[in-house]
Amino acid sequence: MIDQILPDLYRITLPMPFRLRHVHIHLLVHNGKVALFDRGINIPESFRVIDEALATLGKTTGDIDQVFLTHFHPDHCGIAGEIQKRSGAVVRLSAMDERHLQNNNRLEDLVERTRDFCLRQGLPQKALDTLIKHMAVFRKATIPFRVDCHLKPYGRHTLGDRILETIPATGHTSGQMCFYFPEERVLLAGDHILPEITPNLSPDLFQLDYRPLRSFLHSLESIRDLPVRMVYPAHGDPFSELKKRVDEIKDHHAERKWLIVEALQGKGKTAFEVSADIFGADLPDFDQFLALNETYVHLVDLMDNGIVRSKEQDGHVLYRAA
Ligand SMILES: [Zn+2]
Repeated sequence: MIDQILPDLYRITLPMPFRLRHVHIHLLVHNGKVALFDRGINIPESFRVIDEALATLGKTTGDIDQVFLTHFHPDHCGIAGEIQKRSGAVVRLSAMDERHLQNNNRLEDLVERTRDFCLRQGLPQKALDTLIKHMAVFRKATIPFRVDCHLKPYGRHTLGDRILETIPATGHTSGQMCFYFPEERVLLAGDHILPEITPNLSPDLFQLDYRPLRSFLHSLESIRDLPVRMVYPAHGDPFSELKKRVDEIKDHHAERKWLIVEALQGKGKTAFEVSADIFGADLPDFDQFLALNETYVHLVDLMDNGIVRSKEQDGHVLYRAA
């Protein structure tokens, strides 16, 4: 499905076999060539829908000369490698997300770090086993690709007669970028700011001093005052009220921190036990891991602010309100 959002700028909706049923990517025709913003996950439907969209515009894969990637997740860069092979397009990603990609390609190391983290934070073995199976599948969702150029915070690119700015949007990943067309005041937001849900926040198991929540709230604050007319997120419908949505998300995280402190008033609990208090105890296995991550990044933020303390006991980390 292809929608025109500005002259020569289009949104393409790709199907996904996950609970998030779709991902939106964007396409700009410039100087007779095509720039793509994100790519879908590595499934045949991604290729079919993009090829159909290109054909509608009288273009083919060979016309793609630039690929801009918001971040390294498979639904955003899954088929960038195949497009690069077919077209020779220049692929751009932030240096931080290229590092993430390289770390995640070391699957055995990643599995080991994930196992250690999850067991220390109290995730049940059954949920961990499911997660490790998912990790091998997720890896296949991205075709390997070469990063040709690093996207820089507040970098400017000229595409035909358009200016494009790269706006740092860290938190969901430590190197995510949004793409902003300042003349038309249109923001391609990736997973940074979504209309219905908040992007998943998880620790970087290769860099434990990274603070996803703090980084996310900081980068939200820094885009809040951009004079954006319309936000095009990767999941969900476009929306115009950026400030309002930023404030809603900030309130959501403030409330979640407060709920976590409430849950820690009695005995010490693992991060998983806290996540079960907040998100419920009967989530599917993989969702238990997502809930654990989300809870953990809030706990770390609360510890950094002296509101929560932790101690090690019998191989687990226990948290308690300070
Ligand atoms: Zn993502």
